[in-house]
Amino acid sequence: MPTPARGETDHFHDECGVFGVFGHPDAAALTALGLHALQHRGQEAAGIVAYDGEQFNEHRGMGLVGDNFGSPDIIGRLKGHSAIGHVRYATTGEVALRNVQPLFLECEVGGLAICHNGNLTNSYQLRRELVRRGSLFHTTSDTEVINHLIATSKQTTIVDRLVDALTQVEGAYSLGALSQEAVIGVRDPLGVRPLVVGTLADAWIIASETCALDIIGADFVRDVEPGEVVTADADGLHSYKPFGRKPERFCIFEYIYFARPDSVMEGRSVYEARKRIGQELARESSIDADVVVPVPDSGVPAAIGFSQEAGIPFELGIIRNHYVGRTFIEPTDQIRHLGVRLKHNANRHDLKGKRVILVDDSIVRGTTSTKIVDMVRNAGAREVHMRISSPPTTYPCFYGIATPDRDQLLASRYDIDAMARLIGVDSLAFISLAGLYRAMGIEERDPRAPRFCDACFSGDYPIPLIDADDGKVSVQLSLLAPA
Ligand code: AMP
Repeated sequence: MPTPARGETDHFHDECGVFGVFGHPDAAALTALGLHALQHRGQEAAGIVAYDGEQFNEHRGMGLVGDNFGSPDIIGRLKGHSAIGHVRYATTGEVALRNVQPLFLECEVGGLAICHNGNLTNSYQLRRELVRRGSLFHTTSDTEVINHLIATSKQTTIVDRLVDALTQVEGAYSLGALSQEAVIGVRDPLGVRPLVVGTLADAWIIASETCALDIIGADFVRDVEPGEVVTADADGLHSYKPFGRKPERFCIFEYIYFARPDSVMEGRSVYEARKRIGQELARESSIDADVVVPVPDSGVPAAIGFSQEAGIPFELGIIRNHYVGRTFIEPTDQIRHLGVRLKHNANRHDLKGKRVILVDDSIVRGTTSTKIVDMVRNAGAREVHMRISSPPTTYPCFYGIATPDRDQLLASRYDIDAMARLIGVDSLAFISLAGLYRAMGIEERDPRAPRFCDACFSGDYPIPLIDADDGKVSVQLSLLAPA
């Protein structure tokens, strides 16, 4: 095979959100609202495709949902009673409009718009084979291999072709798709990424998280099951289980950091789960101190749980500026160095002279923690103890959450004492993997069937890493550099 052009070798690991509506006159407007609620899952680009009974109407753009779908003109052009939308945070490779989802394909049996949350682990291999057989790729997204597998499938309906395509891919996927007849939702057999179904009057909704149902006043019906395909069409909701069921491995990091705390996943409130993790963390590693301070926003629920369990007052000792986007580009190196202060500022009055327990959800590269600790000390804290509501992140995620390569993960290079010294804290502790499972209501993690995907902490990857084993490990962008 000829050497692919620059960009062809880049592999996207998307942090994404999907949303779809079947059977509502304001399908596109509802989709724009749903995507607003899912904005935390991806801030780089957004897209919506609607179907009006004759044609597909589409709009995609770089940036936030509000930047792209804030105008009535655009929503007005997206006519139709069914629609699908996507927010995306590509973390590697080229950031270009052609990669913005939904991706659209027109094949023998009709048109289909596809949105993907997750990451395929054999997309290079499949792409190589497809290119060899003559497929012309338009994007550098892993999702496009699904389109080509659909286009070349021998099945006679679009849903059967989608299923046929998915039996050939490995990886984590929660998909939303829109055909001429239906809105379709699919979760991979292990159910790594979330997807739920809801209703709004006579309309069916699919969404990555329940907070997107809340924003439009839709009722939650149920989670799409791992390995399940649901289709919503004029006859109602239909369910298929074409892939067989495997033991579930839902991503535990959705509970720790990624999902919105007002969402409910697998019947669990994300907010309550985070508080319980904080309680368990306090049971494992509380220390004499005056205040418990979260690193906002992600550290807040765990810090509340920690404070309640330890009996130490909770204070907002750090204030976050909500108007600083992740995409803010610092103009010079010196300014970049100030980075985190754009986002966080110490609330001096509540830190001065205090022994502070700082709670955050994770340490990835250690950049945030180092700067936050420095800031808290400069504000006059007497002692700074850091407590982390996840186990040390020692392995990269290949299933749809952006993490740097292993050699850039602080915890894969240093032990806890060395990390404490580097970050500049008086003490540092992470919740244990066993403690995390206890917080999720599982007394003991069964190493043969752990129930969650916890590969970023354990290295136990439940889905084969075919591309990575082939040397195709992604080079991540500086997603985690403080904004
Ligand atoms: P770092 O500064 O590299 O150690 O990153 C840790 C911070 O980034 C934590 O405060 C987390 O809230 C946040 N974080 C953790 N995982 C991710 C992720 N996959 N994408 C964006 N931010 C993250």
